Amino acid sequence: MTDTIGWIGLGNMGYPMAKNLLKAGYALNVYNRTASKAEGLVNDGATLASSIKDLCVESEVIITMLSDDQAVKGIFLGEGGLLNCQAEGKLVINMSTVSPRTSYELEEMSKAVGARFLEAPVSGSVKPAEDGTLLILVGGDEDNYRAAQPIFEKLGKLSFWLGSVGAGSSAKLAINYFLALTLEGLAETVLFAKKNGIKAEDMLRIVNEGACGSPLTKLKTNAIVTNSYPAAFALKHMVKDLRLAVEQGIDFPLAQPLAETYKKAFDKGLGEEDVMAIITYLETLSAD
Ligand code: NAP
Repeated sequence: MTDTIGWIGLGNMGYPMAKNLLKAGYALNVYNRTASKAEGLVNDGATLASSIKDLCVESEVIITMLSDDQAVKGIFLGEGGLLNCQAEGKLVINMSTVSPRTSYELEEMSKAVGARFLEAPVSGSVKPAEDGTLLILVGGDEDNYRAAQPIFEKLGKLSFWLGSVGAGSSAKLAINYFLALTLEGLAETVLFAKKNGIKAEDMLRIVNEGACGSPLTKLKTNAIVTNSYPAAFALKHMVKDLRLAVEQGIDFPLAQPLAETYKKAFDKGLGEEDVMAIITYLETLSAD
């Protein structure tokens, strides 16, 4: 393990992922817009870079884990951006969820400065990020994937090389569509039962003990029962992912209404809550 890794983005996912690389023994440079969020990692041995340029110069592999397309482009491009900081020869991996189009653009621009690019969005939330059991959905040159594999092994239980750039982000949008459908279905089921006099905890037990139960329904049960939704996967990110899926051409009967429902929940101020807070929004509808 010789690579020094530069990690950009220490949010809910980025922080525990970076921590796992540190634990695995990698030398780690970190950068976050809000520098104070790096404190714990610096105490554990990471080096805080004062600029993206410093991070880039000091690292062989650079990984970004940021909110959305705009944030990722802001970090990659422009004056002082990653691709304007002697990135030649570096392996740059974007693990944030962005559109396939943004991924192609980043690959093209990386190539133009002699950097190697991979997209590697992840499936799994904060707990799998902490446990190093994410699914990593990779698109890009296979040799670059092989080079990154030892790093992915420290972050996930499985990394899939799916083909060229665009494949990883397309797979990620597809799995998050399933996630959105499942959580909407769970929320509607619980609210329908409640409206007919069945307690939420009883309905959730029926779901979880039967064939409809899944790790996901079990994971979200306590939040529903306690009506408490601290963000693991913030609802605002699901709004983004459904918008990207619609832009990518998903046109099944449930797709548009699903995207609109999550967007309306966001407009009601639930964006910073966990995605399961969709039930809070739906409950206001069923109370009308
Ligand atoms: P998060 O907690 O909201 O963190 C977002 C990160 O992006 C923070 O480091 C933030 O910096 C940075 N950022 C946002 N806008 C920026 C900008 N304009 N310039 C520079 N930095 C900016 O997000 P997350 O939950 O870690 O998710 C990160 C990515 O993983 C997203 O694409 C999300 O869709 C995807 N994802 C999330 C989960 C999950 O369960 N949370 C699961 C799978 C995939 P500050 O600290 O300064 O705000």
